[in-house]
Amino acid sequence: MCFKSLFELLQTYNTEEKCENYFIKQRWGDKVICPHCHNDTKIYRFSKGVYKGKFKCGACHKVFSVKTNTYMGESPIKYQKWLMALYLITSHKKGISSIQLAKDIGVTQKTAWFMLQRIANITNSSDNKIGGVVEVDEAYIGGKVSNKHRITLVNKERYEYQQDKTMLLGMIEREGNLILRKFDKINKENIKPLIDKHIEEDAIVNTDQAPVYKGVLRGRTRNIVNHKEQQYVLGDFTTNRIECAFSHFKRMINGIHMFLSKKHLQRYADLFSFRMNTKKFDEVERIAILLSSSENTRITYKEITR
Ligand SMILES: [Zn+2]
Repeated sequence: MCFKSLFELLQTYNTEEKCENYFIKQRWGDKVICPHCHNDTKIYRFSKGVYKGKFKCGACHKVFSVKTNTYMGESPIKYQKWLMALYLITSHKKGISSIQLAKDIGVTQKTAWFMLQRIANITNSSDNKIGGVVEVDEAYIGGKVSNKHRITLVNKERYEYQQDKTMLLGMIEREGNLILRKFDKINKENIKPLIDKHIEEDAIVNTDQAPVYKGVLRGRTRNIVNHKEQQYVLGDFTTNRIECAFSHFKRMINGIHMFLSKKHLQRYADLFSFRMNTKKFDEVERIAILLSSSENTRITYKEITR
């Protein structure tokens, strides 16, 4: 399979059947596995009737489709729309809004938003780990950032504006991966577990002079980049990459997701990191990487919005 543009994708995958087979190939290769009991023998595929395209397991006798137990759930959304959404969401460097996605693939904005959340959810970074030389920094993100002037308005609005913001800890390895993790308040109790979970114990950590990083790095070596003394770049002593990643992320949020709420921030941060971490791959490879971790990623509307 090969496509370098949305046009080529639509030419190659011009029927529901071809799109469905694409998803089957991505998920199971040549050997379909029952998502209910993990049996991989005597799997029957319906070629007609209401179950057309679906499978029946010879061991547990349950019917399933390539959507079962994945981000696609049991949604009636067509496979071609899912494929287009995957293409648009992973290839737009600056992200895509649900309003734009809805227009491009022909679904309601609510459906597009739900699809965007479900695809972003596959990029979950909660188990990711990085090492070597790692730059660490934190930033306030989100809220109605596009209305920044509001902060000068009456106290009530100012309060709401502050309330709507949240913090991200950014960690990026040299020539490598980015991890962004949400947390509530900047203090050692919140920072320490994130560093322990996401940064290898023998890593070298570059931070600014913020006292919150003192005593939370355990055996990791700390390089302090002193911004006050204009010591921004001194060989390996830099936090430029993480600051740059934050400024890109903020621009994406300001430009695309203007009314991003606090509870969805982690998902957008994960999707942004995924796009950054896979930028050396082409569109086809990027979708394949994403789908390779889509097993057991089913999430309901209720789970997303709670
Ligand atoms: Zn089974």
